[in-house]
Amino acid sequence: MKLSMILNIDPSELKERARAAFVGMAVGDALGATVEFMTSSEIANKYGVFKEMIGGGWLRLKPGQVTDDTEMALCIARAVAKNQGWSREAVAREFAKWLKSKPVDCGDTCRKGIREFILHGTLEVPYNRWDGGNGAAMRMLPAALFSFPDSELIKKYAIEQARLTHNQSLSDASCICIGNLIHLILRGISKKRLREEVECFVARFPGFKFEPYRGLATGYVVDTMQTVFHWFFKGSGFEECLVGTVNQGGDADTTGAICGMLAGAYYGRASIPKRWLKKMDPQLICELEEYADKLIMASPGVRCR
Ligand code: MN
Ligand code: MN
Repeated sequence: MKLSMILNIDPSELKERARAAFVGMAVGDALGATVEFMTSSEIANKYGVFKEMIGGGWLRLKPGQVTDDTEMALCIARAVAKNQGWSREAVAREFAKWLKSKPVDCGDTCRKGIREFILHGTLEVPYNRWDGGNGAAMRMLPAALFSFPDSELIKKYAIEQARLTHNQSLSDASCICIGNLIHLILRGISKKRLREEVECFVARFPGFKFEPYRGLATGYVVDTMQTVFHWFFKGSGFEECLVGTVNQGGDADTTGAICGMLAGAYYGRASIPKRWLKKMDPQLICELEEYADKLIMASPGVRCR
């Protein structure tokens, strides 16, 4: 898309959507973490419909506490802000610092990739067809904001950040797809048009077909994306999208985080339930909003006006 085409988007509206995407991601992470690794029937037996921010789960979290999904996205945001530009080395350094801080959780593939960087300075892990986890896709938001609305730049950032830990074609495709969707949502595109975009994606990568929905929400990026697509398009508001998503169980904090960034950007900050926001750490919310502002204000779409 030509930059001139987005000149009529108000930067303050862009900022609002960017903030809502970041906060939505963290809320989805914190909500889903409680039921991570449960099956949908275990959740139904225990909670009926699970829809409160209560913490706990296998990580024994405080209500509103976020996990690696939000923390790794923050690492990328921090790297861009500190470096005043995109640098995969800077991202890798932030990941390393984070891993050394003994985070509450870290996926195996992510841990392995970050260790490779710490030990050997590796910025690109080798191709591994089995590394189809969702660990690279879950942290796409900062790259999406910082590249807005440049569809070539988003591909570059998506792949570079992914390669630090993941090198697998379906993971790559998911990262780029999430980036593109965020760009479209920032431009105010309707759900009907977003669905057409996702249908084109599914036509290119038929494994992601989400209709009929199979109900799988594992950490395999294909299952993750199917769950996010299904509930993002089915829900008619932030809460409905997120409740539907996390009640599938499985990798619920990560499906929650990805659905949360899309639904947050789409429905806006005011759509995020107050009772969930109240449980979040106010300092974290401040930090997320500051980075959202910085990233979107430094993006080509705002800078090149
Ligand atoms: Mn997590
Ligand atoms: Mn997870």
